[in-house]
Amino acid sequence: MSAAPFPKSRFSDALPPEEAAARHRLIGTIADELRKAHWNPATLPINAQRLAEGAGVEVRDRGGAQEPLYPYRGRLLYLDDRPVIEINLGEEALRRRIVLAHALGHHLLGHGPVPPETLTTLSTCCPQRIEQEAHHFALDLLMPEVAIYRLMDHGMLSARKLAQKFQVPEASLHERMQALDRGSGYL
Ligand SMILES: [Zn+2]
Repeated sequence: MSAAPFPKSRFSDALPPEEAAARHRLIGTIADELRKAHWNPATLPINAQRLAEGAGVEVRDRGGAQEPLYPYRGRLLYLDDRPVIEINLGEEALRRRIVLAHALGHHLLGHGPVPPETLTTLSTCCPQRIEQEAHHFALDLLMPEVAIYRLMDHGMLSARKLAQKFQVPEASLHERMQALDRGSGYL
């Protein structure tokens, strides 16, 4: 696996607080609008592929047993200016949903050409702003605040059960809860 050919410093600069808060609101608004257009709030889990396709993105399967040398977790690319998201079939199913939503975030947040997704870009500790933004978009998109609190109001208080309901890794559910707790302060 080769390192992504992008300079690390390009996006690692933090934004001033007001700008970061505005980006945070934008992430929430874009996730909201996409769900409004392509998701029936009575149904869970959210179909990430349908949302991506609804946003005009083609989703392609890569990797897996057929293509074991495919080196990435996934990747957003532009082919003849059309957005395409590749997802590695070898990725665990719940993680695949996160990677797809993350790559979709890059597209919808206007990040332009971005490095392929690897362990580093998908890490919650990745210092690059665009990776943090895509990460939080993914968590927001797959776990809408309103759905979380509706389930909790109905007595579903176990992180494991909530994660099952949203079909996400339990660690992602915890992260989402922490982000909701912190309000707008995460970027
Ligand atoms: Zn990324």
